[in-house]
Amino acid sequence: IEKTFSIVKPDAVKRNLIGAIYQRFENAGLKIVASKMVHLDATKAQGFYAEHEEKPFFNELVEFMTSGPVMVQVLEGENAIYSYRELMGKTNPEDAACGTIRSDFALSMRYNSVHGSDSPESAAREIAYFFTEDEIC
Ligand code: ATP
Ligand code: MG
Repeated sequence: IEKTFSIVKPDAVKRNLIGAIYQRFENAGLKIVASKMVHLDATKAQGFYAEHEEKPFFNELVEFMTSGPVMVQVLEGENAIYSYRELMGKTNPEDAACGTIRSDFALSMRYNSVHGSDSPESAAREIAYFFTEDEIC
């Protein structure tokens, strides 16, 4: 059984999509084992996306991710990292398969509603970036 880290991004929280997106997690057999609402500041968002520091979209990404509250959660399930990436769909909603979260809810490449860890290493780092052991059930 594997854990992955997920964010419901500001564009989705603003459009009252938390419940609809959590329903997708649960329907897919991804158990929510930790969850909280946070409003990231620039330092926290920059640290989270440190791997993208040199990318042309970095500043706008940080601006977006600090533009309103997000939900952060730990999801647990068989192959959780891969299966959640599949459930999210491709980064650009125009490329995302029908029925994926991004295909159904994302507005654009930037405002793409959800984040999910892309490897066991990033899952471990990202979970620890937001949660202490005692906050995870
Ligand atoms: P995430 O890490 O959020 O799960 P991802 O792994 O599919 O998404 P990354 O390549 O890690 O995509 O990019 C991180 C985030 O940066 C994307 O989810 C998106 O919000 C934003 N982003 C990526 N590429 C672009 C781009 N070309 N223009 C604008 N925003 C972008
Ligand atoms: Mg990524």
